[in-house]
Amino acid sequence: MSFMKLWVATRNAHKVREIAGILGPGFELQSLLDIPDFPEIVEDGETYKANAEKKARALWEKVYQPVFADDSGLEVDALGGRPGVHSMRYSAPDPTHAKNIEKLLFELDGVPRPRRTARFRCTLVYLDEKGKEETFDGIVEGAIGFTTAGEGGFGFDPVFVIPERGLTLAQIPNEEKNAISHRGLAVAALRRFLAQRPKKTVRQTI
Ligand code: IMP
Repeated sequence: MSFMKLWVATRNAHKVREIAGILGPGFELQSLLDIPDFPEIVEDGETYKANAEKKARALWEKVYQPVFADDSGLEVDALGGRPGVHSMRYSAPDPTHAKNIEKLLFELDGVPRPRRTARFRCTLVYLDEKGKEETFDGIVEGAIGFTTAGEGGFGFDPVFVIPERGLTLAQIPNEEKNAISHRGLAVAALRRFLAQRPKKTVRQTI
């Protein structure tokens, strides 16, 4: 079996594991964890695409091999789409996942169930070995619960309810999360795109 070498511009070990699981066999995934001295990339773009592009370009200019980066965020309708592209820094100056959740539940205090709709959105930018760009998007619709539930996942997962399942993303097994999540859908679209690319080298095996 041949492997395609693919880089992902993240240092987040949880994300690397999640993405490797979605890509499945056939890919040799490397990440910024394999380049310890890689400088910090400041995600200061105003859109998911700008941030994903910035991360992907920075890595591509180091490795000149196929790379991708994603950027995602939580868009809450009752908050006019916030925190969106600023999700990670929502509870700045010292944001943590726990503080982000606490702030979100506080901001939504008194908001009734029908108005707690939200979505996770992910934009993924892929650059091939020549630096040619393709963009993929994934969205998962849900609602913000009234309290946390579940131990799995990360970020806002414990308060993000999938209405059809009546469970938060933190209560849903990883494999199932990957099949429905914003990042899962965007990475699966990338996988399909790569599967259709003509192979540069075709080797006959006898
Ligand atoms: P990133 O761009 O994927 O690192 O996501 C930015 C922020 O959005 C994270 O720090 C989380 O707060 C939130 N987020 C993105 N994806 C997820 C997810 O799958 N579950 C929960 N929170 C997420």
